[in-house]
Amino acid sequence: MTQLQLFEAAHNRNGTAIVDATGEHGYTELLDASARVAAQLLGDKDDLAEARVAFLVSPGFEYAATQWGIWRAGGVAVPLGLNHPPPELAYALDDADVAAVFVEAQLQERIAEIAAQRALPVYSTVEVAATPSTPRSLPDLDSNRRAMILYTSGSTGRPKGVVTTHAQIQAQIDALVEAWEWSADDRILHVLPLHHIHGVINVLGCALRVGAVCQFIGDFEARQVWRCLASRELTLFMAVPTIYAKLIAAFNEATREEQAAWSAGARQLRLMVSGSAALPVPTLETWEQITGQRLLERYGMTEIGMGLSNPLRGERRPGHVGEPLPNVEIRRANDRGESVDDDTPGEIEVRGPNVFLEYWRRDDETRSAFRDDGWFRTGDVAVVDEGSYRILGRNSVDIIKTGGYKVSALEIEDVLRTHPLIDDCAVVGVPDDEWGERVAVCVVGNSVDLNLDDLRDWAKQRLASYKAPTLLQVCDELPRNAMGKVQKPTVRERFTSK
Ligand code: AMP
Repeated sequence: MTQLQLFEAAHNRNGTAIVDATGEHGYTELLDASARVAAQLLGDKDDLAEARVAFLVSPGFEYAATQWGIWRAGGVAVPLGLNHPPPELAYALDDADVAAVFVEAQLQERIAEIAAQRALPVYSTVEVAATPSTPRSLPDLDSNRRAMILYTSGSTGRPKGVVTTHAQIQAQIDALVEAWEWSADDRILHVLPLHHIHGVINVLGCALRVGAVCQFIGDFEARQVWRCLASRELTLFMAVPTIYAKLIAAFNEATREEQAAWSAGARQLRLMVSGSAALPVPTLETWEQITGQRLLERYGMTEIGMGLSNPLRGERRPGHVGEPLPNVEIRRANDRGESVDDDTPGEIEVRGPNVFLEYWRRDDETRSAFRDDGWFRTGDVAVVDEGSYRILGRNSVDIIKTGGYKVSALEIEDVLRTHPLIDDCAVVGVPDDEWGERVAVCVVGNSVDLNLDDLRDWAKQRLASYKAPTLLQVCDELPRNAMGKVQKPTVRERFTSK
């Protein structure tokens, strides 16, 4: 019987795989539970033959057992977002054309009706866990078979299903295992959603691949995360910039004794990583002051896994995302697909075993995402400073064309965040007859003392004058998605709907 390396390796591990609210679960238990999931899904079939199975399961042991079970039965895993409203869940079930749904007992109500309308079989994780396990053979799995569909929202249109094969997932994981030196001695705290690449691949996937421990603590609560970071049990932590910002806010409100204990504990981890959105330099600096940890920023995308990373050993440059990961080919190109020199902004293009297979049942979009010679066009624009990539933003939303200049929203945001009255901000381009686009900023901060003229004067001392915003709004908070990413189209609408 051919097994994926992931499962083969797990057979030889005696240690703990997952710690969650229900306790500690070993690799053997994970194999047993996933075999039960696989048996339930297979019924009297030999192989699910890439049938899509959606699952709505909270982060923890049951999630991992369900994911592995779908894979071991030969299915394609389609994780659903826990916070997705019914229409989004229905969209994923229809778009992926799923054959069955797995759901955790507490979440059954959320999906029961949607599944019933589509006459889909629904399996409850609790019931499956209670079925006696009878040994049965599981299908051979060629690593080039489809394994997973993750839904990704572009700036326009409905979410697209990004399909990866087992081999591609393994390549995405192996690059990180090598670059960040993952080992069975690691223990990571998992605080991310599990329908997104960051949580699925970088944290859970890497941990289970090497035999490490992945610890879950339920809903995000900053003080509890701090207590875990201070526990001296963890070696690794990975999060998005907004989580680091929330942890900093909780630290500032903590007592002196708590702060001392949290700082001392957090210093003991061997690595802390940030990604999925640009890490504001002030966040990096404050985090380093309070924990002694210089965050390692990396760049990636659902379609490619991770592409660029600052070094584990060596200088991690604020505002930069480092160099290509092992076995990932990266270049930057102009609109004609020609490579550009380091100082010229160019679109990041990626090639390698980590790059996804296709957008599910969207042949045209798949075709137009790749160049003829196989390079995947990320839509992200970057320059290279002394070998390290600096992301200027997404071509469609963060590169603003104003008065004949192309300016980076991310660069302007970095500067504006150093303004004493600004806590956070999002810069967008707003269509304008005269300028093409105008630089507009939505600011979280002191609305009483902030006005556009003063802000422009201040900005012009630090940026070329055409980069200084000509439109300003102050708001209580920026619109963000489940990964904490600012939703730029929504910010832009705030200016255009006025
Ligand atoms: P997703 O597929 O949801 O992970 O989103 C991927 C996108 O997030 C990329 O195409 C980038 O636009 C953005 N992104 C990821 N990591 C970074 C980073 N370190 N700095 C800036 N943008 C990032």
